[in-house]
Amino acid sequence: MKVPFLDFAPMHDPIRGELDTAATRVVHSDYYIRGAECEAFEKAYAEYIGTKYCVGVGNGLDAIQLILRAMDIGAGDEVIVPSNTYIATALAASYVGAMPVFVEPNLDTAEIDPTKIEEKITPRTKAICVVHLQGRPCDMDPIREIAEKHHLHLLEDCAQAHGATYKGKRIGSLSEAAAFSFYPGKNLGALGDGGGVTTNDKALADKVRYIANYGSDVKYHHIYKGFNSRLDEMQAAFLSVKLPHLDAWNADRVKIAEKYRSLITADEVAQPLPPDADFGPVYHVYGIRVLNGKRDELAAYLAEREIGTIMHYPTPMHLQEAYADLRIPKGALPLAEEFSATELSIPMFPGMIDEQIGYVADAINGFFS
Ligand SMILES: *Cc1c(COP(=O)(O)O)cnc(C)c1O
Repeated sequence: MKVPFLDFAPMHDPIRGELDTAATRVVHSDYYIRGAECEAFEKAYAEYIGTKYCVGVGNGLDAIQLILRAMDIGAGDEVIVPSNTYIATALAASYVGAMPVFVEPNLDTAEIDPTKIEEKITPRTKAICVVHLQGRPCDMDPIREIAEKHHLHLLEDCAQAHGATYKGKRIGSLSEAAAFSFYPGKNLGALGDGGGVTTNDKALADKVRYIANYGSDVKYHHIYKGFNSRLDEMQAAFLSVKLPHLDAWNADRVKIAEKYRSLITADEVAQPLPPDADFGPVYHVYGIRVLNGKRDELAAYLAEREIGTIMHYPTPMHLQEAYADLRIPKGALPLAEEFSATELSIPMFPGMIDEQIGYVADAINGFFS
């Protein structure tokens, strides 16, 4: 049996007709940027997340950096980000001229550890950007308290967690502003690049919209030195077709996680935590950790059996060449390094069938037996 890491077909097959109709509608509208499709999706997505506003932008990285720009964060400022995340979170801080400051994760949740944030706050700290990594919400209440106590901005990188809930509220509505990516492989993905910013703050939403459109509030009237990052009509139309299915797709991910949890019995494997009353994860990926040092061997073993896996992430950000200038030595962020050395994401996608889940679990158990 072949189990790809991600298969779009079970998600897209039932809606291909609707996607075709949406594409044809846009082709024939002769209106391709910032029209009715984008407006309709922004409205629907804000409603879904539970915020007053959503601004469609070009991609997830831009969504984060647009929020930072709108908060007037720039040169000389520091932005706290998790040490264990995709590099986009840190790059967004770098792009506005600020310095990313890494805070270690909790080993059980993989999320930023709220108890380790305060020690990293300096007079230059301006914001905390949390990441709901792997679709699991961060523990927002203690983080919000820290942000308020130190007068810091708080934003969310929601690129991996569309639809996840924390204490009954959707992530993306739990801070001043939140960034979403609609990259195809995300829980809610376009058929190309796309991103969005959700917020309840009208001034911030407007500013993001202006900066993303050449700093222009009214056509040919520029109040900021903005840039170009817009959600196009075609992607917005596709997203509007897919959004009504997001909850069902996420529920399927939760069910698959539950099955993995009961079927994978090897003691050498640590698995993502189940949902509980406060945390409603959406398992963007199912990241196990291999505790006996044999992660790479397991990955090769699964590849031989045609099971797709991905390491998230093989090299932590502070050890990337791109961040050599921060001069953070190996060993300085041991938990991020631990995740890089032990994490393996196994197949997880809506529509995965029981035979596939069982085949993957059996292969993992078989490797350790
Ligand atoms: C995917 C991702 C991004 C960036 O999104 P793009 O749309 O690819 O720019 C940012 N942060 C995290 C955590 C991501 O997984």
